[in-house]
Amino acid sequence: MSAPVIMVVEDEPRIAEVMLAYLAHAGFASRYLERGDAVVSAIREAEPDLLLLDLMLPGVDGISICRDIRRFSSLPIIMVTARVEEIDRLLGFEVGADDYLCKPFSPREMVARVQALLRRARPEATAAAPPLFEHDRDGQRIRCCGQLLNLTPQEYRLLAVLINAPGRIFARASLLEMAYSGSGEVFDRAIDSHIKNLRKKLTLVLGEREAIHSVYGVGYRFELT
Ligand code: CA
Repeated sequence: MSAPVIMVVEDEPRIAEVMLAYLAHAGFASRYLERGDAVVSAIREAEPDLLLLDLMLPGVDGISICRDIRRFSSLPIIMVTARVEEIDRLLGFEVGADDYLCKPFSPREMVARVQALLRRARPEATAAAPPLFEHDRDGQRIRCCGQLLNLTPQEYRLLAVLINAPGRIFARASLLEMAYSGSGEVFDRAIDSHIKNLRKKLTLVLGEREAIHSVYGVGYRFELT
């Protein structure tokens, strides 16, 4: 398996140099951009496995970049910021980052976060056990613990989005967009009732284990506990 590719966007050369050195040492391949304005096109082209994105950048700022990427990709994104007060917003529906690092950060911490987020984003690569959820995209069906789930089309779309991005926090608004784009009749609160029904159906199979977690003030996260 080839090394995961990490894209680093950082306008301070000294910080970037340290980041790249530690990533290389940890066995990652990396790409580096100094400015914000080329990031989205570079991502479409290079399809990296993870993005380390500085908030304050020349050209386009990190928040706008993250938002743009979320329109077409669930690429794992770690925002790097010196502004602690921004963190809720970065992780929330408005921006959609997966994790954050506060400047100044230790490069070891950075590597640990990158590894953890990659594990979350690609559980199939590390999990030895058979997957609890099997997604049959062609048949638009999902099995849980080998059992076919009896889902409505809306529930299917919602669960498909969630199980394909374990650990990621989804705001209601982004779930709406990703699961129901184009269908005008679904509203924020409808998500809650679909989630409620999904949870009931999953409980029948999973028992005590929880799969869909509420994230206070934001939305939902899929992670089997
Ligand atoms: Ca900066």
